[in-house]
Amino acid sequence: MLRYRGGRCDKVPTARSITMSVYDSLGVPAIINASGPVTRLGGSAMSETVLDAFQDAAREWVPLEQLQAAASKMMAQVTGAEAGLVTSGAAASLTLGAAAIIAGYDLSRMEQLPHTEKFPHEFVVARDQRSGYDHAVRAAGAKLVEVGFNEVVAGAGVRRTEAWEYEAAFCEQTAGVLYVYTRDSQPALEAVVEVAHRHDLPVLVDAAGELPPRANLMLPGMTKADLVAFSGGKAIRGPQSTGLLCGQQDLIASAALQMLDLDDHWELWEPPAEFIDRRKLKGMPRHGIGRSMKVSKEEIVALVTALAIFASQDPTEANDTHREHLQLIAEAIEGPTVRCEVLDPSDHECVPLLEISLVAADAVEICRGLRKGTPPIYVGHGKLSAGKLVINPMCLDSHAADTIADRLRKELKGSTQR
Ligand SMILES: *Cc1c(COP(=O)(O)O)cnc(C)c1O
Repeated sequence: MLRYRGGRCDKVPTARSITMSVYDSLGVPAIINASGPVTRLGGSAMSETVLDAFQDAAREWVPLEQLQAAASKMMAQVTGAEAGLVTSGAAASLTLGAAAIIAGYDLSRMEQLPHTEKFPHEFVVARDQRSGYDHAVRAAGAKLVEVGFNEVVAGAGVRRTEAWEYEAAFCEQTAGVLYVYTRDSQPALEAVVEVAHRHDLPVLVDAAGELPPRANLMLPGMTKADLVAFSGGKAIRGPQSTGLLCGQQDLIASAALQMLDLDDHWELWEPPAEFIDRRKLKGMPRHGIGRSMKVSKEEIVALVTALAIFASQDPTEANDTHREHLQLIAEAIEGPTVRCEVLDPSDHECVPLLEISLVAADAVEICRGLRKGTPPIYVGHGKLSAGKLVINPMCLDSHAADTIADRLRKELKGSTQR
């Protein structure tokens, strides 16, 4: 029986695509993902090349610290950082990054995390950069100290957080600075790094979703930020449960030590010296706070493969195809009560989105109807309160775009008849 398999990104149908979906066999229908590579729906689509690398890696064994050391070299080349670590996601990168900043090479501190009362553990952060993701930083034992205001959002003024406010909050308990990077984060990352480094404090950056543009891969090298976290399962299209932590050699070594399984003999343990310099250690740490965030050899290989592809490929052509899919949907549904706009980001590497403004229909109802149909369709829901649906094309092929157009037309027609 031929079954629809949801929005696949492969253009050419493979033998597998016309057999029964593995999800069907579990009774979970595959969806059309028009929300982009979001975690809740399973992240991004690995390319065939990445899937092949994953499978090849699963057939043999290697010591993970050697594999991570090789991945580190590759990540250093791509990001301009001294070193890198493949983690189990950007959130894990934040926990490990905070743990590295708090513990360094101190075995006793590593052992005590997340209990940090006896040593510096405060991270200064701009109040308007707080989010649910900073739980990952606090999980290492960090205490967040908020500074600044966003008077623009508050409708109270024209200024946002300023660099001097970080400096004013530094004290003996300060371990570092947490910075959430977006195109319009304030103050500029460079200014925060400058202030922090003047006080010998490291800066941990969350740039999880800030790719593309590919230029942001160079954030560690360009801004001198000490540690930068990226997601591996978003635009890089690695395994969903991977992330990158890139930055200063000693901090990456500490993060690696607190994640890797260290059940070995000190006399025999020989991590690659350029990755973990054992002369800097008093002994072998026990399993650290990151032991629950392990990354498999297959995931490391797949992430490195995906990263090499992401870094070397100009996304212009892929974005042209994305735009065609969005236009196809827009043309099918546009009318007096449905306004469509393709949002083209100012940076040509970033993915275009389709914003659908509903004048006559309830956006939440349409969203629900799409999810409940067959196959279920999940559209971007970030602007529902403004009466808008958003289509992210990253996980769509032309067949999925056709299906979305068709189903949206039906849902919109149904809603005006209700
Ligand atoms: C997605 C995201 C994360 C978490 O990334 P994972 O790779 O899913 O762990 C953290 N911070 C921000 C800002 C994100 O967008």
